[in-house]
Amino acid sequence: MTTSTPSSVSAPVDRLGRGVDDLRISVIDRCNFRCTFCMPADQKYTFLPKAELLTFEEIERLARIFVELGVHKLRLTGGEPLLRRDIEHLVEKLARIDGVKDLALTTNGFLLNDKAKALSDAGLDRVTVSVESLDAATFGKINGLGHSIDTVLEGIDAAANAGLGPIKINTVVMRGTNDDEVVDIAAYFKQRGHVVRFIEFMDVGTLNAWAPDDVLSAEEILNRIGAAMPMEPLERHRSSDVALRYRYLDDGVEVGAIASITRPFCGACSRARLSSEGGLYSCLFATTGTDLRSLLRSGQSDREIETAIRSVWSQRSDRYSEERSQRFALGVIDSEPKIEMFRIGG
Ligand code: SAM
Ligand code: SF4
Ligand code: SF4
Repeated sequence: MTTSTPSSVSAPVDRLGRGVDDLRISVIDRCNFRCTFCMPADQKYTFLPKAELLTFEEIERLARIFVELGVHKLRLTGGEPLLRRDIEHLVEKLARIDGVKDLALTTNGFLLNDKAKALSDAGLDRVTVSVESLDAATFGKINGLGHSIDTVLEGIDAAANAGLGPIKINTVVMRGTNDDEVVDIAAYFKQRGHVVRFIEFMDVGTLNAWAPDDVLSAEEILNRIGAAMPMEPLERHRSSDVALRYRYLDDGVEVGAIASITRPFCGACSRARLSSEGGLYSCLFATTGTDLRSLLRSGQSDREIETAIRSVWSQRSDRYSEERSQRFALGVIDSEPKIEMFRIGG
């Protein structure tokens, strides 16, 4: 393997003037849940054999190149990242990279109780845990396999005790499925000081039978919470922040919503995504990626891989979510086979 130092002459900018500052790395395409909105249980799935997954060394090498290009936030995701054996060894490698200011992981939390301490010891900064319901029956139905919410809540406590905070909770809201729980979920995590991000149900992938009527808008979500627990808006930290952020008046705990359907934020999108087999995707709704694994495995130098990444980024013009509303208005059905979310992560 040739490992010449990548050039850091200038950070790439895409056709809409957006840099790349955030890399989401899917470490596995398998999952121990079958969430209705992501990997419905009634579908058949084929997963990558181990030899096709990027190795930890390959992921580290790519992450170093991305950091040279301007990335300073790394997030491990999946599938379910805690199913990847020895994931803490990867965390350790990534935590050592100079220039990484934020190393996070998104998980369904089911294995977090066992893993939290090892992840924290390895240098993980924080976790985001996905929780769609606090009700045992609803939770079991949404995760498709009847898994217990108690295990996930114990995992969240373990993560907080291991110092993996500020803990964030992702909650996809689906009208008629869990929208009646929005205030309860907000109140439960408010009490524990964790930041909930309510996410509008998105039309990712091709399997989740998404329909516009299933979406509860961020505005309605925040109105319901605000009516029960008064809050005030917060300024955006950075222009690339995607959440509408609020703070409860009584205790200052933050809560927010991600309005990718009703208030798309493509203009500030500086996220690159790496699938578990090493495909580079410039949008969550992309149909194809660029194969970086074959570059890694054919002896290309860091400089050559950097050039390939620059080329992808400089040609990028993705703004799927902004275009979605126009398509709906025109009654145009999206016929492209979009990549599934469990293959590239959130
Ligand atoms: N398995 C991990 C988990 O669930 O946290 C990580 C991967 S999952 C694909 C990453 C995030 O994508 C989760 O927070 C999940 O809720 C979100 N997600 C999946 N499908 C979605 C959809 N249709 N709309 C909005 N968010 C979705
Ligand atoms: Fe659910 Fe995450 Fe697994 Fe998708 S990848 S099925 S969101 S736990
Ligand atoms: Fe970024 Fe694509 Fe989402 Fe727009 S639709 S915010 S470009 S990932």
